[in-house]
Amino acid sequence: FAPKANSQHSLNLGGASLLGKKTLHSMSKPGLLWFRKDLRLHDNPVLHRALAESDTLLPVFCLDPRWFRELPLGFRKTGAHRLAFLLQSLTDLKKRLKGIGGDLHIVIGQPEEVITKLVRAHGVQTVYAQRDIAWEEQQDEQAVQHALAPLGCNFEREWSHLLYHPDDVSFAPEDTAATFKTFRKHLRQGSKVRPLLPTPVTFPLLEYTYAPVPSMEDVGFKATAGQPAYPGGETAALERLQYYFFDSQLLTRYKWTRNQSLGSDYSSKFSPYLAYGCLSPRRVYWENKKYEREVKKNVSTYWLIFELKWREFFQYLGMKHGNRMFFPGGIKERAHSWKKDEELFRRWQEGRTGIPFLDAHMRQLNQTGFMSNRGRVNHASFLAQEYGIDWTWGAAWFEVQLIDYDVCSNWLNWNVQATEQRFTNAIWQSRKYDKKGEFVRHWLPELEKVPPPYCYAPFLMDEAAQNEYGVHIGKDYPAPEPLSGKLEWAVKRVS
Ligand code: FAD
Repeated sequence: FAPKANSQHSLNLGGASLLGKKTLHSMSKPGLLWFRKDLRLHDNPVLHRALAESDTLLPVFCLDPRWFRELPLGFRKTGAHRLAFLLQSLTDLKKRLKGIGGDLHIVIGQPEEVITKLVRAHGVQTVYAQRDIAWEEQQDEQAVQHALAPLGCNFEREWSHLLYHPDDVSFAPEDTAATFKTFRKHLRQGSKVRPLLPTPVTFPLLEYTYAPVPSMEDVGFKATAGQPAYPGGETAALERLQYYFFDSQLLTRYKWTRNQSLGSDYSSKFSPYLAYGCLSPRRVYWENKKYEREVKKNVSTYWLIFELKWREFFQYLGMKHGNRMFFPGGIKERAHSWKKDEELFRRWQEGRTGIPFLDAHMRQLNQTGFMSNRGRVNHASFLAQEYGIDWTWGAAWFEVQLIDYDVCSNWLNWNVQATEQRFTNAIWQSRKYDKKGEFVRHWLPELEKVPPPYCYAPFLMDEAAQNEYGVHIGKDYPAPEPLSGKLEWAVKRVS
């Protein structure tokens, strides 16, 4: 398992380059490549296998209308920022495929219907797709498999978003450890990260009229509604990797900056690219190793992989627990009586809690589709443990907004913060992670003149201070709901 494939990658020796040698009789083996959350050419096991086994390939992406359905809480399941990020990623993938002689057919429709039609029309023998974990994604796979069976078409799936292939770990997914510490201990028992697969340089495209990338309007959004904080696509992903590691060497400082929230350089911002598969986690792993060899090896380089293993932990926990990750009682099915207070929930969702550290993070999320890990931890803890509101509502809101939405990472992190972790005090965290109030003032212009300590808890200002800083609580900025007392010790210490 030496990282030889890194050099393979740079040589760009694609499996597809062998295609020139294929004989005419095998031209009868068209395959269909169903892209899902694996929107890349590099280190893509599905693409690699499809190229190795087919003479001609039809690459397809299905933009499923069910992703945009209205939820009972009154918002659509996927928001504009995430959709815009996805469309950018598809545009990039189509361009990259065209660059090697391929293309991408993008259809608005349910996969089992779209794929069956194409299989019938082109006599496709095998459909290749990414294997996924969560319930809806598995339902899609089953529906496709079911629809293909009577047509005599094979359905082949590959893991493509994991760091450790399930065949290469010492435990079955259903035996995944309950804690991250034990999970890592189990990984140390011989698990290896596979070398990178080569990036193809040619593509045996099936002749067809390939549909363009749909617009935002095609799925019922305003053209300008989506403003993702980071541009989608494999090209942007690889640029970000190069920037964060080698060009800026920000990786060397990652351990000490990762808990910040302001700007884009405090953490890698790989998550949106990992979520849509624009970036392979193995690529991050092997580039990290290269950085350790060529630039510097320190606690930060260790820590980035440590965080990537958190992602992996949640993927494996997702395989183990399945639908339980969505239960209000959490994966441990603890009894809870969560509040269903829609008015209070809206305050949280719109960034009007009266606690600037929370509101600033929420406004950032709502305007850009991104929120730092610090913001997410504080928000999940606050909604569930302070407001006592059903945390699944909060997880659903993050699902709508986050451009890096990943089923297991989102729902299982919420599980942890809502049902397992101790309360995280947003006022104290504000003092700790945004001491000068720069982040808060960036996203809450109404607090532009408010200095510490009031920017941690503006409701502490008396009338004179409110006049001095030009903010009237209850008018220019909300007063918090009567707080339960959990935040009180921090209020006393900052005041
Ligand atoms: P970095 O700090 O640079 O970390 C590198 C990579 O490690 C990340 O890209 C991510 O893949 C992984 N990682 C880091 N922390 C975690 C973590 N706690 N759990 C899982 N993976 C992690 N992450 C998502 O990718 N998608 C989500 O939908 C998501 N929802 C979350 C919801 C809540 C309530 C919480 C507390 C965390 C959530 N996270 C989610 C984890 C984490 O907040 C993001 O991965 C991180 O903020 C992304 O920024 P980054 O890529 O700059 O991270």
